[in-house]
This record gives sequence, structure tokens and C-alpha cells, in this order.
Amino acid sequence: MEIIHTPEAMQAFAETLRASGKTIGLVPTMGFLHEGHLSLIDIAGAHADEVVVSIFVNPTQFAAGEDLDAYPRDMERDLDLCRDKGVAAVFTPDAGTLYPTGFETYVEPGNLTRHLCGLSRPTHFRGVTTIVSKLFNMTKPHVAVFGEKDFQQLAVIRRMTRDLNFDITIIGGPIVREADGLAKSSRNAYLKPEHRPAACSLHQGLNEGAALIQAGETDAEAVRKAITSCITAHASTEIDYISICDPETLEEMEIIHKPVLMALAVKVGFPRLIDNRLVAD
Ligand code: AMP
Repeated sequence: MEIIHTPEAMQAFAETLRASGKTIGLVPTMGFLHEGHLSLIDIAGAHADEVVVSIFVNPTQFAAGEDLDAYPRDMERDLDLCRDKGVAAVFTPDAGTLYPTGFETYVEPGNLTRHLCGLSRPTHFRGVTTIVSKLFNMTKPHVAVFGEKDFQQLAVIRRMTRDLNFDITIIGGPIVREADGLAKSSRNAYLKPEHRPAACSLHQGLNEGAALIQAGETDAEAVRKAITSCITAHASTEIDYISICDPETLEEMEIIHKPVLMALAVKVGFPRLIDNRLVAD
């Protein structure tokens, strides 16, 4: 497995693969890999000849006061996991290399970022679209795989890929969960054991919401209330948002019609966790 640190070396490696007729599947990550990431590597491997994983904690998607410095890291373990998965190359550049002094060009996403996480993290998605564009140009993939756990991110990337004519197929991978239902996340490493039941209330609330919708509830406020009371039953939770929205536009729904997305962000002790559930039929 190649471990690549510079854009030039990454582009040369990608060109060599392409020249030999191989297709490339990219899995962008911020590292501290877990089974959610590994499932995306499997999906990439099923859609491309060779998989490239990027590991880069991207500073431009963090605002001041967020957890950039505290973000969990374990490069040796990540490299072992990628090697075991048969990954062709791990691309792990330095922040200074990708954002040298004088860097000033960003990819500006549109209306999809006026909802959900975009409201409390107003500069987050332009950091995401900018780094993903840069990764596309450096790793030259045919397909790129993103998790449905970050539903809004996947929607923003799909839109960017279409709007900017990237010749890349975007594939979404389903949410991988712990045995107790908590969505796997690198940020779960920050969770105190005593906050685990509170963290589990996110998916429990989503399950309750889904059950209500499936039983015929069409009042979004009633569904939001049910999810809220499930989560606020735990003292260590602080809700950022609970959205009941259209999965295409991410616009809030008042009267529910399917397909409908329930998406939420909740601070549980230190970490801010996100989760979502699509009810399609
Ligand atoms: P991150 O390292 O958190 O930036 O995530 C890298 C990629 O893994 C993103 O496309 C995420 O949506 C995806 N991902 C994170 N957690 C999960 C999960 N539990 N299940 C599936 N994909 C995930």
C-alpha cells in the first residue's frame, strides 16, 4: 500500500493507475477509522479496481471554537486497517501543503446549506466542498463514496458534482451502527461512558419518529415533539436541531409526505453528534 503525502505524488500515482486501465474509487475521511469508514472502502472496492482513502482533518470545515485540535487521530492504526482492506493508497497530506500561505479560492455551495447543520455551522460546507474538489483533482477518481450518516454533506457533494461537471460517480453508503444503535462516529471517542444512554436517545428518538410516521402521523411538529422528549429525558443533551424535511431540498415540512428525512444534531456532553433516518414508504 502506498502512503502518499503530496498532491504531485498523488496525481502521479492516480495517472499511473489510469494509464494501466484501472478505475479509482475514492473514500475521503478525517481518519480515526471505524466500521462506517471500512464499509465505504468495501463499497468503493465493489465499484472500482483500486481504492484510494484520504485521511485529512480539514481545517477549513471547522470554525473557531470547534474541535479541530481535539479531533481524535491514530494514523498507525488507520494505515493497518486500510492495508487489511487491500487499499491501494492512503493519501494523507499536511494542512500547510493543501492550504499554503496565500490560499484564497473556495467552492461556494448554495441553498442546500441553508438548513440543518449549515445553520449552526455557516462556514462548514464551503470547507467541505473546497476540500472535496481538491481531493477530486488530486486523486482523479472515477467514483467517490460518502456516508449517508452525513446526509446533508452527501446531498451537497452530489449537487456540487453535478453543478461543476466533475466526471465522477457519487455513491452513498448506509449508516453503520454500534450494537446498541448509536451511529458509529470518530467523535464517539469523546463520549463519557455515563453519557452513552443519552447518545443512544438520538437513534431511539428517530425510531419513535419513524414509527409515528409509519402509523400515519402527518404533523411534523408532533413528530418533532416526540423525538425531543425522548432526547431531553437525558440531562446531558443539548439539541442543536431536529429537522423533519424533504430529502431532496432539505426544506422543512409542516405536513409530512413521504419520502421524509428526520435529521438531528445534539450535543451529548462534549461531542456534537448527528444522526438521521429516511422514511420512504
Ligand atoms: P469523517 O471521517 O467523519 O469525515 O467521515 C468520512 C466518511 O465516512 C463520510 O462520508 C461519512 O459520512 C462516512 N461515515 C462516518 N460515519 C459513518 C457511519 N457510521 N456509517 C457510514 N458512513 C459513515
